[in-house]
Amino acid sequence: MTTPQVHTYHCTSCTVFLLASTYNFSTLPVRSSPGLDSATIIPFPSLVTNPNSSSSHSEPTADFTVLLGLVKDRDGSHGTSGGPGGSGGKVIVAREDGFEKRALYRCGRCKVVVAYAVEGKGWLYLLPEGWVETGRMEREAGERREE
Ligand SMILES: [Zn+2]
Repeated sequence: MTTPQVHTYHCTSCTVFLLASTYNFSTLPVRSSPGLDSATIIPFPSLVTNPNSSSSHSEPTADFTVLLGLVKDRDGSHGTSGGPGGSGGKVIVAREDGFEKRALYRCGRCKVVVAYAVEGKGWLYLLPEGWVETGRMEREAGERREE
């Protein structure tokens, strides 16, 4: 049994530690259909607890994604700016194939929206400009220091 490599990811705005995951996000699929946002699609095991999933889909046991600095907008929270509709952290997005109910995830420090989850789906969608992998960040910092 090998220990999976854990990748870590930071907020691009304030560099706070956001996520740890066994998935390499740069190799995961993105939402690329016309009109979509190129968000990286991350399997989100904590949302895949559907008792009706009696399919052959195997349980994610080895792979995981941990939310650290990411904060989910909650209904009734005071973090939102009281937008129209007053639906808490939920956002309804109209798409060609219907409506999509999203729960937003923000950076816990700078409150930038980094990701969102779609109700009824076991995925976390990570906005392309919201995150940077630790290795890349350190490499760039190292180049500046000329190590
Ligand atoms: Zn941030």
